[in-house]
Amino acid sequence: MKTAILYHQDLERYDFGEGHPFTGERFSEFFNFFKSKHALSKDQFERIEPEPATDEILKLVHSKDYIEAIKAASEGTARSNIFQYVSSDNLNPMTGCIPCGVEKGARIIVGISLLAGELVAQGKFSKVIGVGGGMHHAKPNYGEGFCFYNDVAICVRSLKQKYNLRRILVLDTDAHAGNGTKEIFYQDPEVLFIDMHQDPRTIYPGTGFIFEIGSGKGEGFTVNLPLSPGAGNQAYQYLFEEVIFPLAYEFKPEFIIRYGGSDPHYLDELTNLGLTLEGFKMIGQQVNQISRKFTEGASIDLLLSGYNLAVLPFAWSALISGLLELDIDLSGLEEISPPSGDSRIKETKEMVGQLRKQLKKYWRSMG
Ligand SMILES: [Zn+2]
Repeated sequence: MKTAILYHQDLERYDFGEGHPFTGERFSEFFNFFKSKHALSKDQFERIEPEPATDEILKLVHSKDYIEAIKAASEGTARSNIFQYVSSDNLNPMTGCIPCGVEKGARIIVGISLLAGELVAQGKFSKVIGVGGGMHHAKPNYGEGFCFYNDVAICVRSLKQKYNLRRILVLDTDAHAGNGTKEIFYQDPEVLFIDMHQDPRTIYPGTGFIFEIGSGKGEGFTVNLPLSPGAGNQAYQYLFEEVIFPLAYEFKPEFIIRYGGSDPHYLDELTNLGLTLEGFKMIGQQVNQISRKFTEGASIDLLLSGYNLAVLPFAWSALISGLLELDIDLSGLEEISPPSGDSRIKETKEMVGQLRKQLKKYWRSMG
């Protein structure tokens, strides 16, 4: 079966302007890079263009008031109370405004995640790659961390409603904790949210500690895996083997979503983790193994972050190459003096020991 790759050239409008770390050219840069590596063969991939999400779709997670405020602000209608809805990192640093194209771009990103979910749920594709997707800092009534609409949460809500899915595994491998996604599913036992990220004591958003495990019926279904700065490929692999795979085995997901781009790479400019391209490939391979075990190989994979544009297309391609068992030529990025593969493995093992104490009440495999 071919893999669907979802892409829209208007994604470049998701751009916060000069001086802001999130730029819109990432999407076309990746796409052109991927093509130039002859990786985008017609036998392997089918390219599909998503539709921007409607208000109705956005309302699966966001309030009418919030959607109207973001839309109006991005169309240049001044709102004196904009900081009620967004943090300053969602503004163009030169103008102090929400850039006009961003809202359109955000709707396309939601459209990508929604379509990715649909294509897999309907059995049309086994694997779907979303070029764009994973705006995990967006909350129902608040945009921050360069995110406005939480596409993953919208996709999950839609899948639950339309396809009656009751066990959805959401794996966040972005370097930052997914505070928005966490908040939305904190009380939901039908979504197992597993989040690998840099230790929140050292980076935005300052949440994602091991003791944040969900609440009410959702207790035990939020799993945070904070990594010490510098954590390398083996620390990630350890987490897959010791936590993620065992939890997946108990949860038995009916649907798998992974998201997160290149910002855990050791050369990223906003973060301090220690992955190399080899580590990104390994993450893809691990997700593929989990999907083979539980969903006959089906999963959706969404790419968005990365704040070193020289690294981004390589790391996104490495994820895809691992996920699809594709041989992609990733020569050309010089990874000079990366952290050693086993960097921070000791701290990671200690963290897992503490995490097990938090989770053993809910999961046999954590006992
Ligand atoms: Zn990030």
